[in-house]
Amino acid sequence: MLSDDQIKAVIARWFSYYAPGDDPQPTHQERLDGVVRELRATMLDDIDRLRAERKTMLALIRELVDDGECWFDHHGGCQGHGYLSLKPGEKCPHAAAKELLSGDADAHA
Ligand SMILES: [Zn+2]
Repeated sequence: MLSDDQIKAVIARWFSYYAPGDDPQPTHQERLDGVVRELRATMLDDIDRLRAERKTMLALIRELVDDGECWFDHHGGCQGHGYLSLKPGEKCPHAAAKELLSGDADAHA
């Protein structure tokens, strides 16, 4: 993902673009189109990379999550998975992971 400064650099490059052999020089609209094309390409690359990372992480979670049920002690800790110091309202990470995987169609792909 581009930072604000990187976006500004893309804009500055397109709007300072000058090639002596180019006649006529790019119009304002052509420069804007260039900025949009370049930023869109970067965003699409980011989305592809994030999708690949997400798929990898979901596969890892699926491998790591324990199929056993949670069972809680009188303090609210999950004895089934060893998360003994859960605070009120906190979920056992294994239960949270199962919820994440069950709600994600891609997780089973
Ligand atoms: Zn648990």
